[in-house]
Amino acid sequence: MAWNLAQGDGVRGVYRGARRLLAAWCALAALVCALAPSCQTVAVTGRRQFNMFSLEQDKQLGGEAYADAMAQSKRITSGPQYAQVKRVVERLIPVVDDPGFEWEFNVIDDPKTVNAWCMPGGKIAVYTGILPVAQDDAGLAVVLGHEIAHAVARHGTERMTTQGVGSVGLSILASQFETAAKHQEALLLATDLLVFKPWGRDNELEADEIGLMYMAKAGYDPRQASEFWKRMAALSGGGAAGSGLEQYFSTHPSNAERIARLERLLPKALALVPPGAG
Ligand SMILES: [Zn+2]
Repeated sequence: MAWNLAQGDGVRGVYRGARRLLAAWCALAALVCALAPSCQTVAVTGRRQFNMFSLEQDKQLGGEAYADAMAQSKRITSGPQYAQVKRVVERLIPVVDDPGFEWEFNVIDDPKTVNAWCMPGGKIAVYTGILPVAQDDAGLAVVLGHEIAHAVARHGTERMTTQGVGSVGLSILASQFETAAKHQEALLLATDLLVFKPWGRDNELEADEIGLMYMAKAGYDPRQASEFWKRMAALSGGGAAGSGLEQYFSTHPSNAERIARLERLLPKALALVPPGAG
């Protein structure tokens, strides 16, 4: 039900009550975050994060959402595009802060979709439409470093923790796997948040930073990160309607701030590149 304040005092009262409840919840969450294991530290950036989901639940939700997405996609399992994705994934995974994910990747034959994602738990998908924008392995490492960072930083279930309070209530978070119906509801929410809803600015910038360090550690030139985002920005500014870019930018806002920030982080990233890599 949508809140309609014009309906009168009764609704306003309920609205005030809900806001008080939410405020109390936030205060409690902050307290719990200070004390409990549900608060973790994000790799690379060191940010403290409150997440009501366990790593096992990350893997379960991500795995199911992944299987669901793959069932509707045309996969490529050989050839140069597949080999390129495999090469970059296999070079990145050994250097990421692996929380114990079961890594898997798929290449989706979809030249119109300029996109890629990594579900919680380490399930990766790359749409062939992003490969020409990536241009080469370093460009693809920018994309995959960023997507893997979202999963390693557990942005998906962190967002479910905060948004779940507002949209489906605490009950589903507390017992989302108790019944088939609740399980299904949690899965739908997860898929929506993980694949369709745009990430917030903070999550995007954090994924950029973590991904930049990962690509550098894997021996790719981190200067290619801002170059990749410049290409994306140029494409989106060049009236690329129908190219699939609208879909990409609905989940990946691109802007001058992200490019400037990547360039500021370059010295730190360059120091991580192993000697002789390139
Ligand atoms: Zn992102």
